[in-house]
Amino acid sequence: MNTGSIVQQSGIYKCTSCGNEITCVKGERAPPCAKCSGTTFKLVRATK
Ligand SMILES: [Zn+2]
Repeated sequence: MNTGSIVQQSGIYKCTSCGNEITCVKGERAPPCAKCSGTTFKLVRATK
């Protein structure tokens, strides 16, 4: 998942650059990483 894309699955995502974890909600646009401004994230744990 990249910053600016629509989140397809609500859950915890981890920044692939610094490892910071963010929470994303389905249907919203993914934000940039708050710590390093990274733009690529990997799903860690899906939530409802
Ligand atoms: Zn980061």
